[in-house]
Amino acid sequence: MPKTLFDKVWQHHVVVPETASQPATLYIDLHLIHEVTSPQAFTVLKDRGQKVRRPDRTLATIDHSTPTLLNEDGSRPFVTAQAETQVKTLLANVKEHGIEVHGWESENRGIVHVMGPELGATRPGMTIVCGDSHTSTHGAFGAIAFGIGTTQVGHVLANQCILMRKPKTMAIHVDGELEEGVTAKDVILAIIAQIGVGGGTGYALEYCGSVFESMSMDERMTVCNMSIEAGARCGMIAPDQTTYDYLEGRKFAPAEYAAAMKDWASLKTDQGASYDKEVFMKAEDIRPMVTYGTHPGMAMPIDAMVPAAADEAEIAALKYMGVTAGQPIEGMKVDRVFIGSCTNSRMDDLRAAAGIMEGAKVVDDLIAIVVPGSELIKKQAEAEGLHEIFIESGAQWREPGCSMCIAMNGDKAAPGELVVSTSNRNFAGRQGPGARTVLASPETAAAAAITGVITDPRVFTVGFGEEE
Ligand code: SF4
Repeated sequence: MPKTLFDKVWQHHVVVPETASQPATLYIDLHLIHEVTSPQAFTVLKDRGQKVRRPDRTLATIDHSTPTLLNEDGSRPFVTAQAETQVKTLLANVKEHGIEVHGWESENRGIVHVMGPELGATRPGMTIVCGDSHTSTHGAFGAIAFGIGTTQVGHVLANQCILMRKPKTMAIHVDGELEEGVTAKDVILAIIAQIGVGGGTGYALEYCGSVFESMSMDERMTVCNMSIEAGARCGMIAPDQTTYDYLEGRKFAPAEYAAAMKDWASLKTDQGASYDKEVFMKAEDIRPMVTYGTHPGMAMPIDAMVPAAADEAEIAALKYMGVTAGQPIEGMKVDRVFIGSCTNSRMDDLRAAAGIMEGAKVVDDLIAIVVPGSELIKKQAEAEGLHEIFIESGAQWREPGCSMCIAMNGDKAAPGELVVSTSNRNFAGRQGPGARTVLASPETAAAAAITGVITDPRVFTVGFGEEE
């Protein structure tokens, strides 16, 4: 019987099938942990006298609470004692349980969803979990990857399995050719705007079609990263030569690479397999996107007018954002720009932002910070001179970490400030109490940094709007 990509990976990992009264027991290949959602789970483990079942399938980093600026003496100014304790506790726990960690000394330290793929720990056909919602990022490699809560982190540490009901499947087809200047971030924001923040609830998404096939792995990760913002359990893209080329030679890449590629080649939805739901979109209809409200579904083309609120929640969202239905969002004054997060902090993103900011200046009263996703990205960006472009423009070039995506480390906006952010969530207060977030691509964020207002980046990338 023809199967979907999701069904193939799921069936391969079921330990005990689900019944009417019991979810399936699913084996987990890789458990990624960080300092925020793991300490409590380790405490429970200790209280029960249990050990980590598979330390060799657990991988740790520090990213959420870590400062992105160093003191002059090289020390790290943690925003609170609690943040410092989280990091120290994680480092002590992984040492006690023999788990590989990428801490301060590691050249692989980074945001957990950047680090996993960089190490080749994320591979096609795997099941991957982490105590962070945006674990869906790893689906870009053809893995079933999803975020779990602190209690489940404890379960996976203890038994390497999780109880879960099988989600339904939804294919999102985007075919055709994207217009010049339209990015992966625009594609995923357009998808979420179309299906809604609850549109993926109960589903595993598979992104299909020529648009995803022609994307780089960095771009595919941007897309899968935001699957959770449509309410989906996970998002996947079938592995192909682009995936194999990305993984080859990485630390955890299989030694028998040709044999692995042969196995991975079977990870495609079979002809004739059926999904529970299918959505079709045309690439040519997608334009650069921005959000105008307080969830990622409140997104629109950058050159459109803010739509009328559909309900009380949207009325409140427009009020919070300081926008009115019928007004353009282009031209709104911007106070801060954040280029970073596990959505958009990789080399493709930094190169795109630098391409716009090269030779230009960040406007005087605007703060722009650029936070690479990992130590490897920081090193590569510096080797290419991108940091000099950012610094010369007046932007701040920071140490890797989650930073203003979640504002746990002290990197945050002031109340009322408007932030153009390449991250994934624009909830009220996500980037600081009262801060207003506009989600956008690195290109749009960079354009805002040098103009001081929300600006269509195609003005810089493809000469959009110029006289013939
Ligand atoms: S960058 Fe944001 S979404 Fe990604 S892991 Fe960090 S806090 Fe989570």
